[in-house]
Amino acid sequence: MPPRYTVFGHPVAHSRSPDIHRCFAEQEGVGLVYTRTLVDKDKTAFVTAVKRFFDEGGSGANVTLPFKHDAFEWVQECSERALSARSVNTLIPLANGGLRGDNTDGAGLVWDLSENLNICLNNKKILLLGAGGAACGVVSPLLERLPESITVANRTAAKARELAQRFGVEYADFGQLAQRRFDIVINATSGSVSGEVPAVPADIFSGSLLAYDMYYADTETAFMRFARENGARQCADGLGMLVGQAAESYRLWRGFSPDVRSVIEEIRRGRK
Ligand code: NDP
Repeated sequence: MPPRYTVFGHPVAHSRSPDIHRCFAEQEGVGLVYTRTLVDKDKTAFVTAVKRFFDEGGSGANVTLPFKHDAFEWVQECSERALSARSVNTLIPLANGGLRGDNTDGAGLVWDLSENLNICLNNKKILLLGAGGAACGVVSPLLERLPESITVANRTAAKARELAQRFGVEYADFGQLAQRRFDIVINATSGSVSGEVPAVPADIFSGSLLAYDMYYADTETAFMRFARENGARQCADGLGMLVGQAAESYRLWRGFSPDVRSVIEEIRRGRK
């Protein structure tokens, strides 16, 4: 029997993880099965599905919306980065029958920014839009790269304040961003899913090095277009982050580090 992996989520049909992990397995030269598991939006249903998967010999799993926090609360052991994010996207079986939770989202983002897009994060002013699960997962890994500052802004301002205070970074209301300048603007809101751009002042992009949308799409997202039209020098979507975080999960499960760039190209070309 080949090793089995899955991604738990609701919805999950859109997930590109099976395609990405199939590419990694080809690189490693192994056969494995990676499926999508749709789970009812309920913590008990999630826990039951995870237990069944690992009881039946599953070798590892990813967790996506809306279960990342449930997974964090339920796993028996956590990595430092999952503890910091309070969110788990990777489940690794332990020898004692329990599960270890990790969070590879931040590693994926930092890889994409610094290795793939060649953006040096050191001494940069970073604006992080959004204060949900994805934003929580990336603050610590970004701080490790010693930026000059990180400012968090969110539609619901109280959530930005709570997140910023937890990590000791700045926060601002969308309206307070007018006339402020940032080197890197990261969109960690889910607005792009429905083509909405966060209601930020257009001038925040003036002279910025990079506007990065964590959402990924076949065409330029509304956020990327807005940023480009208002002065961002470079714009990118979150496909590199997605493949980067998947590669880190794969390494944790199998001890093999896939080549990420070639897989980004394959997925972008729609060959997988
Ligand atoms: P959450 O549901 O946890 O958080 C959503 C966030 O988006 C909240 O801060 C919410 O603000 C904000 N938001 C939603 N709609 C709007 C809008 N119209 N205008 C302004 N703000 C809005 O989602 P996640 O944090 O898990 O995901 C966020 C995004 O990141 C998604 O697009 C997801 O696809 C992407 N992502 C990409 C990954 C990758 O590997 N590339 C990995 C993980 C996520 P409020 O608090 O006011 O509701």
